Amino acid sequence: MASIVSSRSSSPQQEYQAADYSIAQAVQQELGANAQYKLTSLLQTTIEIEPLFELFFGQIQHLLKLGSCQFINQIKNIEIKLGTTNSHNCDYSLNIQQQYLGNISFSRKQRFSEAELAQLENLLSTLVYPLRNALNYRDALNQALSDPLTGLGNRGALEHSLEYQWQMAQRYEQDLGVLMIDIDFFKKVNDTYGHDIGDYVIKHVAESINSTTRQTDMAFRYGGEEFLVLLNKTTPLGSTIISERIRENIENLALVDNKGLPIKITVSIGGTHLRPGVSTHQLKQEADKALYHAKENGRNRVDFYENENSSSHSGELSI
Ligand code: GH3
Ligand code: MG
Ligand code: MG
Repeated sequence: MASIVSSRSSSPQQEYQAADYSIAQAVQQELGANAQYKLTSLLQTTIEIEPLFELFFGQIQHLLKLGSCQFINQIKNIEIKLGTTNSHNCDYSLNIQQQYLGNISFSRKQRFSEAELAQLENLLSTLVYPLRNALNYRDALNQALSDPLTGLGNRGALEHSLEYQWQMAQRYEQDLGVLMIDIDFFKKVNDTYGHDIGDYVIKHVAESINSTTRQTDMAFRYGGEEFLVLLNKTTPLGSTIISERIRENIENLALVDNKGLPIKITVSIGGTHLRPGVSTHQLKQEADKALYHAKENGRNRVDFYENENSSSHSGELSI
């Protein structure tokens, strides 16, 4: 059973207005069973959330003279805003069979009459099932693209994001840094403490990488104990500072074994930057080369790729 709970309105004691009445009548006429059926059919043409709201709002906006529509699901970290906010609003909590879908609010210049609110609720009833499907689809997609152990994006997600960030960086001539991170002597961790502790270490290293980088940066689990970070709009100097911070924070992680004894973990990091004519594949190769160099030169260090003809370099950094 779908339920639409009205949770608040900026004008709860709405008076019956002659002007509203004419709008309500127009709505009633235009949105008979046929129009509602059309809206239902239209909403079934997409399974993605943003296009779904664009279609929904696009169809009902003029009928109810709406200025804006906002959908929020804080648990799933979704916020969609369409149109321009005005002073009078109404807000609904959308649920199906005890599944919370999110909150939707509308605003406009005029007050909402009771008849219009009833009309809006009818229209919302056509949205709830397609919305539930879109949310489920989004969850499935996220699951398919995320690594279950660390919660970071997996390799599939990385390929998708790298391609997108690479295109954006080229189009808007923005910086793009790529870091390849590999845990040092991880085989020894598994051999000494067992696979479960090995997994625990991977999880904490992932958390540390994620919390050290900015929200706009993207961290992925590239392989077993390897990670890749995309630093968009980050200058070479910025990437050097962030990668050094990642290395240092991991070195300082307070990890313990089953007996509470400390486990010391370090990582080596190889980095590179997008330059004209460099493909996504080359970027990964360059970061990997720089990482190899960091391993060869003692581990627990950061190296950046320079160019084809010279090997990677490492600079002393004081931050
Ligand atoms: P290096 O410093 O050169 O990187 O040495 P290393 O021992 O880390 O490198 P190597 O690639 O030889 O070993 C990586 C190990 O990571 C091998 C594998 O057993 C382990 N590993 C890969 N994936 C996982 C995982 O999901 N969980 C655990 N516990 N271990 C993993
Ligand atoms: Mg490795
Ligand atoms: Mg390793």
